[in-house]
Amino acid sequence: MKSARITAPNEPLSVHEFETPKPEGEQVLIKVRSVGVCHSDLHLWEGGYDLGDGQFMKVTDRGVKYPVTPGHEIVGTVEDVGSNVSGIVKGDMVLVFPWIGCGNCPACKVGNENLCDTPRSLGVFQDGGYSDYALIPNFKYLAKLDGVDPDAATSLACSGLTAYTAIKKANSNSPEFLVIVGAGGLGLMGVQIAHAITDAKIICVDLDEQKLATAKEMGADFTVNSKDSDVVQKIMTICNNKGADSVVDFVNAPPTAKLDFAVLRKRGNLVLVGLFGGSIELSLVTIPLKSITIQGAYTGNYDDMVELLSLARKGILNPIISKRYTLHECNSALNDLKARKILGRAVINP
Ligand code: NAD
Ligand code: ZN
Repeated sequence: MKSARITAPNEPLSVHEFETPKPEGEQVLIKVRSVGVCHSDLHLWEGGYDLGDGQFMKVTDRGVKYPVTPGHEIVGTVEDVGSNVSGIVKGDMVLVFPWIGCGNCPACKVGNENLCDTPRSLGVFQDGGYSDYALIPNFKYLAKLDGVDPDAATSLACSGLTAYTAIKKANSNSPEFLVIVGAGGLGLMGVQIAHAITDAKIICVDLDEQKLATAKEMGADFTVNSKDSDVVQKIMTICNNKGADSVVDFVNAPPTAKLDFAVLRKRGNLVLVGLFGGSIELSLVTIPLKSITIQGAYTGNYDDMVELLSLARKGILNPIISKRYTLHECNSALNDLKARKILGRAVINP
């Protein structure tokens, strides 16, 4: 099999040839049909996250070992199964749940493997889907597509799933006004999901007019370009000068985080999702005085991924796939995402 690997931070990915593995026990071998290119693959390629003040959190300090095959939004057909696999047969078209945990910690025990203390996520801590074949450790991490378009389905394993978790958290205070910051792969899914499952008026913020126009088509009621000097005032005016009840930040960098706090109203709910990173100073006293809630959201669990597949099957969710690359073009895919040239998601068809 052929896999595109990150061998060291910022080095071009190179395609390597390996013996195709034979699945054993609960394992399943997938012939990869499509794999989504996520901004998190870029952070993995860059070697870590910006902590602000010149500090950097290395992915290798979090347990990543190079070389690694990235790719956590994997769709493919079942090629071969181990002897203990049931309910999945050769030829099934499946979406892979990549946020695999240890199975034993408190999070895993209640089905939230995505929040495991010692994660083993595919495409991060174990080899993922930038490959023509992928070995999945257990058939329980697969969900049948049953009619969902394979390229579109890739988005449901990370961008859709993360957006779903975040929007559900943002909806816990029944927001009248919901601000979504960042209309990239995650944010555009967030707009669609918010439109489908909340009663909120959706205000979408990005730097890119084309992405904002698409957000409007996907269900945003208002769009605001964060390059505008009066961005805070524009959002406040839309929210009757009281501010937004909830903000979901799919960028989560200093300029957007400052904006989030500036437009969040009393009793507001802030959900931070993006991993762009950095740091800001917080006016501590405003947090109790405004009684705001600040929370993080990290991917989602298997059951939510299955729910999303059913929303996609009904046509309620339509992930945007705007560009397709071959495995050998994976460096171009990552560079195009970095240069903000991708609308919605790009996929690699190995
Ligand atoms: P993307 O590159 O597709 O989209 C990013 C979007 O943010 C773009 O539309 C860009 O124009 C916009 N943007 C950048 N800076 C901005 C600014 N200052 N103001 C307004 N908009 C700005 O990325 P993606 O795949 O959607 O991922 C977004 C982030 O979420 C990444 O950091 C990624 O690693 C992270 N992520 C987090 C989770 C999680 O579980 N928390 C899961 C997946 C991805
Ligand atoms: Zn992702």
